[in-house]
Formats: sequence, structure tokens, C-alpha cells
Amino acid sequence: MNELSRNRGQGILMVIRITVEASAAFFITAALLHYGTASTAIGRELIRLQPEVATAALSLTVLTVWLGVTLIFGRIYCSTLCPLGALMDLAARARPRARVYRYSRPFSLLRLVVMTAVLLMIAAGLLFPRRWLLPFGLYASVIDTLLAPTVSVAALMAAAVVGTLAAVAFRRGRFVCNTLCPVGSLLGLFSRRAAFHFDINTDRCTQCRRCVDVCKAQCIDLNDHLVDMSRCVVCFDCLPECPDDAITYTLGRHTLSDPLMMPKYKTFSKK
Ligand code: SF4
Ligand code: SF4
Ligand code: SF4
Repeated sequence: MNELSRNRGQGILMVIRITVEASAAFFITAALLHYGTASTAIGRELIRLQPEVATAALSLTVLTVWLGVTLIFGRIYCSTLCPLGALMDLAARARPRARVYRYSRPFSLLRLVVMTAVLLMIAAGLLFPRRWLLPFGLYASVIDTLLAPTVSVAALMAAAVVGTLAAVAFRRGRFVCNTLCPVGSLLGLFSRRAAFHFDINTDRCTQCRRCVDVCKAQCIDLNDHLVDMSRCVVCFDCLPECPDDAITYTLGRHTLSDPLMMPKYKTFSKK
């Protein structure tokens, strides 16, 4: 495949992903707003597929399917069906292209502590974490509160939450997804071992940094030529950027030609 058609193919993958994400966000929001019969019906089905909704309804099949999908494809949920992720992507897209992202080290302990605390609060029967600390619950609560006919403290708080999320996403991309979101942290435990992963071929990579510049999860480490799959949200934004076909979404791992580079296959989980 020549360079032009390969880049076009990678670009199509990204366009499909963005179309799915935008459509899912539209239908889910329509269902929450009770807007139109058909769109509401589709949105309701998409809401049933949300991992936290399935867990609350004790639908272990849906939850198991999501964990299985994450084990195979990575955190694809985070770039397709999560409406909060779509909202953050919208804010991140508004940032000028000249403002590039940089790799940041993972906040593994913080993620673990927040996830455990939220799960414990939910297990204790508290309603607040379900409505305001889980991503779908937060999205639904914000829509609900903002729709209320009167201005209330809760509505102001909801507006402040959306504004803060958008501002953080504008500056740091998926920072919230990779620090505070309990669902993202849970999926990350599975995606770090995902069968399909982003692999960097060091024989081809010229360290041009174009993939790092667009990675809103800030998870591409060019020093070690590794993509931290526990934080990667499988958005495919990096693929069409690479001019050398060096980064790929693949089942296999590239065998490095330089023996000094072999330790690069360490996993982030052991950091
Ligand atoms: S990390 Fe959380 S908020 Fe971000 S996309 Fe995934 S589930 Fe949604
Ligand atoms: S590594 Fe690529 S696919 Fe993963 S989050 Fe970064 S840009 Fe998206
Ligand atoms: S865009 Fe491709 S060549 Fe450039 S740093 Fe990333 S993987 Fe390497």
C-alpha cells in the first residue's frame, strides 16, 4: 500500500470513530431530553449499554462484554459511547492546533485511590457518587439539572462542573479521564493488557513527535517507544499523523533490531 492510500485508510478509521462518538452523544442526549420518538428510542438502548448503568441494573452480561471488549481492543468505550468523553473531545478540538500535547507520567496511585473510594461509597449505598462521580451519572445529572425551569444552586453547580471539565479538556485533553474517572481507571486495568494495542516500530520512527503532539491522553512515550494502553482511549488520532508508518494499531509486537532497545517492552503496570 502506498503512503497516500495508507494515510487515507488510517484517517478513515479516525473519521468512523468520531462519527460513532458524535452520533452516540446525540442520541443519548436526545433520550435524556425526551427529544423525538426515534432518537429517544435509540438513545435509551445506548444508555442501557453504559457500563455503570448495566452494573446498577445488575446486568452482568453487558458489563462482562465491556470488560471483554476492553481486553481485546482497549478502552474503545471511552472514545465511542461515553457522552462525557464526547463532551471533553469537543472542548479539546477547540484548542488551536499549534498548542501541542506532551507525554505525561501516569497518576497510577491517584487513579487507584479515587476508583476504590468511589466504589466503596457506592457499595455503602450512597447516591451522590452514582449521580455526580461516575461519568454517565454526571452527564445525566448535568442535563437534568440544567433543564430545570428555575435557577437553583444545583444548576449553578452543574454549569460549573461542565465549565471546569471543558476548560481542563481544552488545556489537557483527557486528563480527567486518566486521573479522576473511576470507570476509566477500571477499564484501564484491563486495557493495559489489550490484545490490540498501539505499537511503535523503532526501525521506522524518526522521532518527529507528530503522534505525541495530537495525543490528548498524553500517553505516547517516545523515550521508551511505548504507548501506555491503560490511558490510551483508542481515538486513532495518532495514526494518520505518522509520516513513516511507524505507529500502528495491531495484535503483534515489532521485534526491535537494536538489542539495546529490547527492554522497551516493559509494561507500565510495573512502573
Ligand atoms: S474515562 Fe470516564 S469520562 Fe472519560 S471517556 Fe472513559 S468513562 Fe468517559
Ligand atoms: S495513543 Fe493514539 S489512539 Fe491512543 S489516545 Fe493517544 S492519540 Fe489516541
Ligand atoms: S509520528 Fe511516527 S515517526 Fe513521528 S514520532 Fe510518532 S511514531 Fe515516530
